[in-house]
Amino acid sequence: MKVFKFGGASVKDAEGVKNLVNVINITGEKDLLVVVSAMGKTTNALETVVSHYFSNPSEIEAAVISVYEYHFEILQGLFPASASEVFADVKELFKELKGFLKRTKSKNHAFVYDQVVSYGELVSTAIVSAYLSEAGIKNTLLDVRSCIATDANYRDANVNWEATQERIGSKVSKKGITITQGFLGAENTNNFTTTLGREGSDYTAAIFAYCLNATSVTIWKDVAGVLNADPRFFTNTTLLHHISYREAIELAFYGASVIHPKTLQPLQRKEIPLYVKSFVSPLDPGTCVGKGVALDPETSCFILKKNQVLISLSSLDFSFMMENHIGDVFKWLHEYKMKVELIQNSAISFSVCVDNKYDTLEPLLAKLRSNFKVKWNEGVTLYTVRHSRPSEIESLVENKTVLLKQESRETVQLVVKE
Ligand code: ADP
Ligand code: ASP
Ligand code: MG
Repeated sequence: MKVFKFGGASVKDAEGVKNLVNVINITGEKDLLVVVSAMGKTTNALETVVSHYFSNPSEIEAAVISVYEYHFEILQGLFPASASEVFADVKELFKELKGFLKRTKSKNHAFVYDQVVSYGELVSTAIVSAYLSEAGIKNTLLDVRSCIATDANYRDANVNWEATQERIGSKVSKKGITITQGFLGAENTNNFTTTLGREGSDYTAAIFAYCLNATSVTIWKDVAGVLNADPRFFTNTTLLHHISYREAIELAFYGASVIHPKTLQPLQRKEIPLYVKSFVSPLDPGTCVGKGVALDPETSCFILKKNQVLISLSSLDFSFMMENHIGDVFKWLHEYKMKVELIQNSAISFSVCVDNKYDTLEPLLAKLRSNFKVKWNEGVTLYTVRHSRPSEIESLVENKTVLLKQESRETVQLVVKE
């Protein structure tokens, strides 16, 4: 059996859902586990609902209605009005969501976040499963929360592999077509919904592939495959036909957002190939991540991460930045869930480039200021270039201010103010 994953872009409207069916038909696969993300930008829209819950409750209702109306339009584009069951199912999910928002008095942001944003995937899979049935493709809709067991680290939950393996083994058939939600899990104590981190549906596909010993995973994207740079920011990109697991992990880790970084490790462990293909041209070969050469064709790869923060610390009394200081800094970075992208230190200073994913910069800076002299730049861009030639770096930084540069044999990283 194989695992397919369809992301938000592939199911952003009724045409997208019809195309998903088309892709399944064209590939001719009969034994499939299909992981589906929330439709279009639904997760962002539900994040807005969460922020209203905490700071602007009078806006909640309108925000939920607009998410509902978006899905209602997709339903209308897919089903005749007589298909009342799926309309009722989707309505019921929104009723549940509204009920949660009314009933809950929790101040735990991350907890509320996961309970709310999860409706994006619950609704999308209800629609996709019903549409497949409508199109004559028999399928089972599986609630992923009965399979993926996690800890209670809301918004970035860690998978309990043992429990997950057992549940998937006993609940999921390797025969026929199963539809399930990406991105979600459930914690073990109270079965509350958790999420695996933004863009985590690729990871869900890898978890199922690992536990089911799938022959491959295919993630269907709006690009031809993995390119040597993000086409939104670079022109003249090259399609990478083959990438080794190791190279793919490096690219994803540094921010090539076409593959979620956690996806590769479970696949590598069982040597399950990952295909990245275009949902627009499903018969094209796309990219294969697997065993073999690092990169085919051999080319430099450019990765860009916007909106990073560069923090520079030096000791208050001109003493050295030693292990004890740096140890404290890392402890706080971890506490405030800052993702460290790059570090550099000298005798009396320490610089770190971080991704402020959870909006925790202010409290972190407050903590740091009481121990160090602190300077910082927000809104900087981190460029990572793999296998580059010197001339390429020169043209990359033309007309830009380079705040920090770090170079190793295979990788050049630059923190840049544009
Ligand atoms: P999904 O619909 O699965 O969520 P994403 O939007 O997360 O898909 O991923 C596809 C996008 O990733 C592309 O539209 C592209 O802009 C971006 N991207 C970033 N880096 C790369 C890369 N190296 N190759 C291809 N696409 C990339
Ligand atoms: N819907 C989630 C997100 O937008 C997960 C995913 O798409 O992979 O982050
Ligand atoms: Mg995505």
